[in-house]
Amino acid sequence: MNIIVCMKQVPNTNEVRINQETGTLIRDGVPSIINPDDKNALEEALKIRDIHGGKVKVISMGPMQAKNALKEALAMGADEAYLISDRVFGGSDTWATAMILKNAIEYVAKDGGVDIVFCGRQAIDGDTAQVGPEIAEFMDLPQITYTKELKIEGDSVIVTRYTETGDYLLKAKMPVLLTAIKELNNPRYPSFTGIFDAYDKEDKVMVLSNAELDVDLTQIGVKNSPTNVYKSFVPVKEKHNEIINGINDKEKAANLVNVLADLKLI
Ligand SMILES: Cc1cc2nc3c(=O)[nH]c(=O)nc-3n(C[C@H](O)[C@H](O)[C@H](O)COP(=O)(O)OP(=O)(O)OC[C@H]3O[C@@H](n4cnc5c(N)ncnc54)[C@H](O)[C@@H]3O)c2cc1C
Repeated sequence: MNIIVCMKQVPNTNEVRINQETGTLIRDGVPSIINPDDKNALEEALKIRDIHGGKVKVISMGPMQAKNALKEALAMGADEAYLISDRVFGGSDTWATAMILKNAIEYVAKDGGVDIVFCGRQAIDGDTAQVGPEIAEFMDLPQITYTKELKIEGDSVIVTRYTETGDYLLKAKMPVLLTAIKELNNPRYPSFTGIFDAYDKEDKVMVLSNAELDVDLTQIGVKNSPTNVYKSFVPVKEKHNEIINGINDKEKAANLVNVLADLKLI
């Protein structure tokens, strides 16, 4: 069973502030972490590999510092790690990001193929939940999002898919793309030997640029992405209070009813 996990390094959003003038995130000095849903995807991939054999390969597109996330994944038990990094990829939107990741998955899968492409449901910084489904579309793979439980049965996956109105039990033939949610499992801590190996002097993260991936440059980057961020801002929360008066509770209740009726709320 060969599984490729897409992992994004994200700023720890509990500590991110917004620059009120530019509307951009202030990332300086903010620690980065593996996107939480991606850790659930990695944990599930490791569990499956431990039972069924095969390899877990992790890929992340980002700057050189994203190597830290990949090293943490190696320390948790991933077999191979690839950093997708090239200036020409910078500024890509979700569509272009998914196209680059598709080429990266195909490159990494050249050796051994791929049975499951695992993504997180959503990145906590970009927050779109688009990249997983877009990769599936580009690769023409069946996809199941919001994976809450997963079983392997022959050449298929049996997935409990979470929705707000109830769970679905779905079956799909591999190769398949799945997106993970936090209910799927509890990610393991890196082992002592895992940390020792992953942070060894010899760098085990392989860096791939467009020289290897050969993505069509007319489709990616800030200039060619079909969407761009016009503005980002924190909405101002306004509270309006109104005190309902009356000589006794009965009159106060009647006045409240009148106010609600005027607002067409009742
Ligand atoms: C015009 C424009 C310019 C942008 N410029 C930049 C920029 O310069 N730098 C920047 O960091 N962002 C930039 N972004 C944001 C960037 O496009 C998104 O962060 C990225 O496409 C992923 O979208 P998301 O964060 O909403 O991920 P989601 O769709 O919410 O992520 C879902 C899952 O997809 C996978 N995934 C997502 N992104 C990656 C990744 N990079 N590597 C591996 N797996 C991944 C993970 O499994 C993740 O859990 C830009 C966006 C736009 C629109």
